[in-house]
Amino acid sequence: MSKKNSKRITVKIGTRVLTDSRNEIDRRIISDLAAQVSELMNSGTDVIVVSSGAIGAGLGLLKLDKKQRSLSELQAAASVGQNHLMDIYNEYLGKNGYIAGQILLTQEDFNDRRRFLNIRYTLNTLLKHKAVPVVNENDSISTEEIKCGDNDRLSCLVADLAASDMLILLTDVEGLYDDRGRLIERVDEVTDDIRSFCRGKGCEESAGGMMTKLEAARNATRSGITCVIANGRKKDVILDIAHGGKSGTLFEAAGRKVKARKRWIAYSIRPSGRIIVDPGAAKAVAQGRRSLLPSGVLDTDGKFIDGDVVDVVTEKGELVARGLTNYSSEEIDRIKGLRTDRIEKELGHKDYDEVIHRDNLVVVEG
Ligand code: GLU
Repeated sequence: MSKKNSKRITVKIGTRVLTDSRNEIDRRIISDLAAQVSELMNSGTDVIVVSSGAIGAGLGLLKLDKKQRSLSELQAAASVGQNHLMDIYNEYLGKNGYIAGQILLTQEDFNDRRRFLNIRYTLNTLLKHKAVPVVNENDSISTEEIKCGDNDRLSCLVADLAASDMLILLTDVEGLYDDRGRLIERVDEVTDDIRSFCRGKGCEESAGGMMTKLEAARNATRSGITCVIANGRKKDVILDIAHGGKSGTLFEAAGRKVKARKRWIAYSIRPSGRIIVDPGAAKAVAQGRRSLLPSGVLDTDGKFIDGDVVDVVTEKGELVARGLTNYSSEEIDRIKGLRTDRIEKELGHKDYDEVIHRDNLVVVEG
């Protein structure tokens, strides 16, 4: 990708890039990265940073035992570490005339369309005022249920939300290696063979490994965003990639762009449950791009309410689509298998003919 068309880049910086073996933030690295980010901003490219390292740095600062730490200790570490991390970003961005704008998110911010759009406005406004957004998971308040999970996933969500042209995932290896240990320069599709090359399972302080990076790269390319996994410690790596250089493993953006609202349904929200459908309905939804009607529903799995995002699956559990449901799991359990003209009699009301309308339904591959 040439510099010319790469107008907005999201750069995710992993804990392993930012911290040393004593869990201390490596200032030299942040200094280098801040200089590269600033150079791109000077040339008119918007840069959004998604930075890990808060928990790692906080553990070091609080001198917490690495092995025995409770959730509340991790959250305390995140609170202390995040502050410290932002100080350092500000120090080095400041040397180049920029300022950092902290944004801390959880999965819930992506589930709610208004909050989701609001994050976009804030990011755009920061960039308009020459501030560099520095995003992280809000680890000091987030529990398992509301967590994005890992910053690879978070950075993909942010890259999409902010309509980035490119997502750069910086880690401590050169990119993805094949089973003979050779760097793969380019991946056209994330297949099971490609997944089998993942060995790294992440370190103690970071949530992700190569697998979460691959999933992020896959979702990014499907959203029309080119993705590169590369070594964050390599000199001028961000500049090299932004200028079309060969660093890391490249995942070229897919040509077919799904509309923003449908991408939000498909990738940004965690599904609240599943609707199990018969083969006819699966085919109508997947191939015919039709709405899902109660007659094709066999069962539900999990508790959800109307307006939630749910997976539409076959009896074997194969994912067919994802969509916003018009009815709760309880209601669907009462109308499953019925013709639409019987919905009202069964429920006492009928707001919609469809369980999921085709406009709110996205066919996704598992
Ligand atoms: N949010 C975590 C932190 O800042 C890192 C999560 C991750 O590495 O994926 O420490």
